Amino acid sequence: MKFKKGDEILITGGKDRSKKGKIDRVLPKEASVLVPGLNIYKRHVKKRDAQNPGGIIDFPRPIPIGRISLICPKCKKPTRVGFTGVGKDKQRICKKCKQLI
Ligand SMILES: [Zn+2]
Repeated sequence: MKFKKGDEILITGGKDRSKKGKIDRVLPKEASVLVPGLNIYKRHVKKRDAQNPGGIIDFPRPIPIGRISLICPKCKKPTRVGFTGVGKDKQRICKKCKQLI
């Protein structure tokens, strides 16, 4: 997985294209990430009890990693992620400024 929690990302496709956010959760199985406040959808919920009055709620849907790019913390540009080293020493690098990120 090229992304991890806390990464700042830019959405490059879909309805929230060109918005930025911070990854809250990585979902490796779905190859997607959850970013609070982005990719919000409305869900209609039935009334259940006093605590769950129902209505329309907003909830963020996972964003496929094919539709986001990492914003490099070093050069602040949207970039692709590369790797250097092997095994335990494998580290991420920014393809633009070549720094470890
Ligand atoms: Zn960079």
